Amino acid sequence: MNSDKQAAVLNIEKVRKTYGTAEALGSIDLCVAAGEFLTILGPSGSGKTTLLRIIAGFEAPDSGRVSIRGMDMTWATAAERQIGMVFQNYALFPHLTVLENVMFPLEMRAIRRGPATERARAALESVHLGAFADRYPKQLSGGQQQRVALARAIVFEPSLLLLDEPFSALDRRLRESMQQEVKQLQVSLGLTTIFITHDQDEALVMSDRIAVMSGGAIRQIGTPSEIYYHPNSISVATFVGESNIFDGTPVGCGFRAASGARFTLAAPAECTRILIRPETVSLRRPPAAADHHEKNVFSSTVIGRSFVGGFTDYRVRLAEGDEISVRAVAREGGAFELGETLQMIVAPEDCRPLSGKAGR
Ligand code: ADP
Ligand code: MG
Repeated sequence: MNSDKQAAVLNIEKVRKTYGTAEALGSIDLCVAAGEFLTILGPSGSGKTTLLRIIAGFEAPDSGRVSIRGMDMTWATAAERQIGMVFQNYALFPHLTVLENVMFPLEMRAIRRGPATERARAALESVHLGAFADRYPKQLSGGQQQRVALARAIVFEPSLLLLDEPFSALDRRLRESMQQEVKQLQVSLGLTTIFITHDQDEALVMSDRIAVMSGGAIRQIGTPSEIYYHPNSISVATFVGESNIFDGTPVGCGFRAASGARFTLAAPAECTRILIRPETVSLRRPPAAADHHEKNVFSSTVIGRSFVGGFTDYRVRLAEGDEISVRAVAREGGAFELGETLQMIVAPEDCRPLSGKAGR
């Protein structure tokens, strides 16, 4: 079998969409491999739902192409696409039992009652709701309703599963356990999944790859660690994780911030900005004897401190005037004091060049 064809379940080419004069999607290209878990991460209004609705067939693009398993599906109906979908607001049928809800897609496909019941029960088992088959949606908690919606979306063995902010109505604990559960199910069934969220932590935890969207365009696509450690722009860097960004100019093997602070980089880079993640910075009380070979040691003062359970987040001001956020592992009684003079150290490889050209 041709491995490329086999690999791509979804291929989107140059998809554009406008509402009136407003452009919801620029020109989107996206390829999703079989069995892949791809997250579309972006702020509200960035075009995530519009893209998903075009993939599902609820909305037509102005131009461009949507192919599923190598077939042009741009103009196919939603039913013809064999796509399972879960929305934020459950969207269960209130007058049907849990089992009837899950059987619904099978009835639509004219599958006989016996086999349909069997498959629906198996799908309910896979989301740990086997015992709730005869209840009605209103007799379930939010998390349980969302698991029913998930069972209904996978019961007909869709070629693609689309999830649009499915956990955003749930509290944090429940959201985290649902994340685990969906991830396990996705891996065990080998489901090709596109997941939408505006929650960066959720995206980092769950995804094989993340596509960061803003203003109707995909700004960057890559593994969670590529997105986190090698963001291609300020907008991606600041949207995913906490960041310290310094503007300045390259000098030899280093970088001089506008304030005059000089950083040694791991390799020379033509960049006008560097990114330093707060957890890569360390703080210490000045040692008695200075080690002159050590790189990127800055004199600094603690100007803010918050204990966040497990971590302490510091705000420190360098002698040059720059302010920087530092995240340190918390130890009871071991915190630095406000106003204390410390050394701030950051390894050259943790001072990451940020391309200025990629825009904000
Ligand atoms: P997201 O899901 O990322 O929050 P959406 O895809 O829902 O973003 O919306 C993207 C943009 O398109 C927004 O500016 C939104 O107001 C606009 N939009 C979405 N759907 C419609 C519609 N049916 N009519 C007009 N504008 C729309
Ligand atoms: Mg949306």
